[in-house]
Amino acid sequence: MAADVNRVRGIRPAASTLAARALAASIAAAALVLAASAHASSSGGVQSPSATLAGGSEYGASRASAVVDPVVTSLSVPSTSLAGRPPRVTLRLDEPHVATVDVTVAVHDLTTRRATLVVQLGWIRTGRSITVLWPRGATLPVGSYHVSVSAHDHASHSLARTAHSSGVATLTVLAPTPAPTPSAPSPPPSAPEPGVPTPAQTLAAGAVFPVAGAHSFGGPENRYGAPRAGHIHEGQDVLTTEGTPVVAPLAGTISWTSYQASGAGYYAVEHSALGLDFMFAHCAAGSLAVSAGQAVVPGSPICQAGQTGDATTPHLHFEIWVGGWQAPGGHSIDPLAYLEAWEHGS
Ligand SMILES: [Zn+2]
Repeated sequence: MAADVNRVRGIRPAASTLAARALAASIAAAALVLAASAHASSSGGVQSPSATLAGGSEYGASRASAVVDPVVTSLSVPSTSLAGRPPRVTLRLDEPHVATVDVTVAVHDLTTRRATLVVQLGWIRTGRSITVLWPRGATLPVGSYHVSVSAHDHASHSLARTAHSSGVATLTVLAPTPAPTPSAPSPPPSAPEPGVPTPAQTLAAGAVFPVAGAHSFGGPENRYGAPRAGHIHEGQDVLTTEGTPVVAPLAGTISWTSYQASGAGYYAVEHSALGLDFMFAHCAAGSLAVSAGQAVVPGSPICQAGQTGDATTPHLHFEIWVGGWQAPGGHSIDPLAYLEAWEHGS
């Protein structure tokens, strides 16, 4: 029942990604030079053990009967790190009778499915742990990633992936925790901030309730500010049945849609014309009816209520932000007074 969304830190497009790609490309060029020399010097290390006895046995001849592939025997990636410099990653590859293998490490954004960082390590020695040297200036924005290793040896045998050595690890990059401000508590919900539209003002602007169907506000655990592991609940849950239409409360523009497996599930963010930002989380799979840049009016379909992401019952997790959703200087406010006004006014 205590359906929840974990703190949804923005998974935002980052300008730094492009810079990181450019740097990765220059590193790759350098790696090519390194690879050429390593290839020449290591060719003696890959001969079959019987080469000296067989006299004429040429490189690779003995492999036909017993194909051996490189294996990632160790891949150390922290499960979480903070946005910015990529975390320390160490890895080790092994392959019997093979001295060096050509290794590439890629970091894929699980939301966009795109490679955020690609580092060609070149020919590295087997049997020892090495630390990945990230390109200078490379950064990882907040998000969920796969760190994956690919490799091949001089005989073009590529990485053998098994359940215990897949060569892939998951990394979650979190936003740095803001400095605590005990002397500046957030204002009580009954006292709207100056410059922030009041529930009555939003109603006068035509606001409608975001769930078009039977619903409830649940219990204390569904309230804004309810304690969660390591943070507070930054929205109000609106419990409803799977498939109930979720609609835009006010006119505005969709600023973001995405998927977060460990938190919001399928979600959308609207920047309203009145300045408030709305976040709609846990949409049913395949139901998102909007995309970034799209204009909406009160009642425009956003998605259907569901329970994707970190949720155990169908509901809309609804957030209101002042100063931009997840933006520097932006902050969430208690949505309940707005929801109650819209519930009775529409
Ligand atoms: Zn919630």
